Amino acid sequence: MRIAVLVKYVPDINAERKFADCRVVRDPAEGTLNELDENALEAALRLVEALPDDEREASEVVALTVAPATGDIALRKAFQMGVDRGVRVSDDVLAGSDYFGTTAALAAAVRRLASEAPVDLVITGMAALDGLGSVVPALLAAELGRPALTFAKSVSLTDGTLEITRETDEATETLSAPLPAVLSVADTANTPRFPNFKLIMAARSKQIEEWTAADLGLDAATVGAAGARTETTQAAPRPEKPEVELVQDKGSGGRALAEYLIRNELV
Ligand SMILES: Cc1cc2nc3c(=O)[nH]c(=O)nc-3n(C[C@H](O)[C@H](O)[C@H](O)COP(=O)(O)OP(=O)(O)OC[C@H]3O[C@@H](n4cnc5c(N)ncnc54)[C@H](O)[C@@H]3O)c2cc1C
Repeated sequence: MRIAVLVKYVPDINAERKFADCRVVRDPAEGTLNELDENALEAALRLVEALPDDEREASEVVALTVAPATGDIALRKAFQMGVDRGVRVSDDVLAGSDYFGTTAALAAAVRRLASEAPVDLVITGMAALDGLGSVVPALLAAELGRPALTFAKSVSLTDGTLEITRETDEATETLSAPLPAVLSVADTANTPRFPNFKLIMAARSKQIEEWTAADLGLDAATVGAAGARTETTQAAPRPEKPEVELVQDKGSGGRALAEYLIRNELV
């Protein structure tokens, strides 16, 4: 079985976010693997580990990212967890890609992987913590003409059929589709493993393959800022949080609360 896991480098969500020309500044020192993609990696590794010995040995898990060189941080983490290969798609023409451009590049990379040998499954996280679009998995499935099983809480594979459950506000849904398919996993799907020492050391020297837009036959007019169908018209840092007023309740807490609400015209 061959699985491509999509991993994204994202700025540290706890660090201060900076913008330039309406784009997030991606500082290598402050970034990390998108935490939700660790669930995707874990799902892939578990599916392979559950295979009979001969199939497991013939399997390959490839971590794939569309990013500048900072994307290697995400790929190194994927190696630490146990993937076999890491591929980064980088090209100046990709800068400014919106959802559609990013998806076009990811789809082209999956197609190139599939030209080597069939790719049975593409696994993604449920969202990238910087963009929070949650649209790439469905767009990618449409682009590749594959079924999309999204927001999986549980995943199982039997005789080439993938089955997932997912929680909605009203119900637990069970969906299934034959491979090849695109799967996105929820953060409740599993607990990602801690890398062991051996894999951490090995990850340092693993080779990362670099593919350009031209390698993938991407038309520069359909990706990057040139091909973006959406435009960010304004980006501003979130306003500072107002200072919190702490009132100690020594018997007059109710009055203090009422006064606060009146003073701030909240009633
Ligand atoms: C006008 C515009 C310009 C933009 N310019 C830039 C820019 O210059 N640089 C930039 O980095 N972003 C840019 N972005 C943001 C970028 O388009 C999105 O981050 C990207 O489309 C993915 O969307 P998302 O982050 O919401 O991912 P989601 O849909 O939330 O991601 C879901 C899952 O898809 C996978 N995935 C998503 N993106 C990638 C990726 N790149 N590589 C591998 N796997 C991935 C991950 O598994 C992830 O968990 C721009 C967006 C717009 C609208």
